Amino acid sequence: MTTPAAHKSAGGAQRRSIALFGGTFDPIHAGHIAVAQAAQRRFHLDAIHFIPSSRPPHKSQQELTLFIHRYTMTALACAEHPGFLPSLAEAPAPHPHVFYSIDTVRKFRREHPEDHLYLIIGADQFLEFPTWKSYEQLLDSCDFIVASRPGFRLDVLRLIVPPEKLGRSPGHDPHKIVLRRSVVHLLTTVASHVSSTEVRDRLQRHQGIHGLVPSRVEEYILGQALYR
Ligand code: ATP
Repeated sequence: MTTPAAHKSAGGAQRRSIALFGGTFDPIHAGHIAVAQAAQRRFHLDAIHFIPSSRPPHKSQQELTLFIHRYTMTALACAEHPGFLPSLAEAPAPHPHVFYSIDTVRKFRREHPEDHLYLIIGADQFLEFPTWKSYEQLLDSCDFIVASRPGFRLDVLRLIVPPEKLGRSPGHDPHKIVLRRSVVHLLTTVASHVSSTEVRDRLQRHQGIHGLVPSRVEEYILGQALYR
């Protein structure tokens, strides 16, 4: 199925707009879904691949819930939204290793050479960008959708980009940073305070999480007695 966003590439194939949304998703919550919906609407995305990481670089293995639970919750959340796809791209591997975004983006680029590729991340993560593996190459490898997050200023995001990466843009657009080889779009229409930390903390204190996670995810968490 194609949407109005898909159009013919030079080679004649349908060019689709696809986004990668990586995270620990421990658990996936209403803030993630709000960001993905806003991005889907604004950029006419044909597909958003939700990629729970079995081994994220910045979190230790001990503090993570089993991958199978995080993946299942991601799949349950995606089931409610056309175009949202749970991905096993960063599933546990036979030789366990840390997953870096640059490698995942390159993998999708190889698999979808004709498509318009975006990486969705929250403003808090974009501010950490210079600590990411090969972040300068990552900036060259796809477009970005950076979602606003309460407590993080979007105007400082420009300072994260090395000056030599900046491209020429006709006039100043507060919603994008034009780079030489990509564009960083600022998604300012979402402002969700929800975090996975808050969901986990509430469950540990035996408080309700209704509305903070999709209802199927809430049922799963309660049924499996996660985060107790
Ligand atoms: P934790 O509280 O455990 O650190 P988290 O809520 O930040 O988790 P992650 O799975 O680490 O969730 O986030 C995946 C991606 O989603 C990151 O890029 C993060 O910045 C973004 N994100 C998470 N919550 C929000 C939110 N409420 N608004 C905007 N972006 C968000």
